[in-house]
Amino acid sequence: DTDFSCFLPDEEATLALGARLALSVSPAMVIFLEGNLGAGKTTLSRGLLRGLGFAGRVKSPTYTLVEPYTVSNLYLYHFDLYRFNDASEWEDAGFRDYFNAESICLIEWADKAEGLLPVPDWIITLTPEHDGRLAHIQAFSEQGRTCLNRLYP
Ligand code: ADP
Ligand code: MG
Repeated sequence: DTDFSCFLPDEEATLALGARLALSVSPAMVIFLEGNLGAGKTTLSRGLLRGLGFAGRVKSPTYTLVEPYTVSNLYLYHFDLYRFNDASEWEDAGFRDYFNAESICLIEWADKAEGLLPVPDWIITLTPEHDGRLAHIQAFSEQGRTCLNRLYP
């Protein structure tokens, strides 16, 4: 299938979806996280990292643009490009090298680096609904579809 949706009634549910995604993702994936400020993008990233076995603090990389993690034999780069506005910074910071066969890249505010990023394997969109969030995952590659299929029981 190429898409998956579920309702997340509270923060715990967002963390739980992240943990579930940890069982489906694979190295070399690029995942865009879409949704307004406060939608739950960082919360979902935290759940995914915990699901992969990362026990430390997962903070929002708003000022640093990216937070690197090494966990369960892979690199996970969590980007928050909200404050990214200088394309030359992309090359200077060596961000291009972060996208490789041993890494998973999670990207908040990918639209701020349009043209610099690869096509994502997944776009996950979080939308406020009632007091919770609606999560929608869309796959855009063969690998993305394969990983998405693992989400179904
Ligand atoms: P973003 O990274 O999208 O700006 P954050 O994850 O930093 O958002 O913050 C999301 C806020 O919404 C947090 O206060 C979190 O507790 C809350 N939250 C996360 N998921 C849900 C949910 N499913 N329902 C209600 N509140 C949620
Ligand atoms: Mg965030």
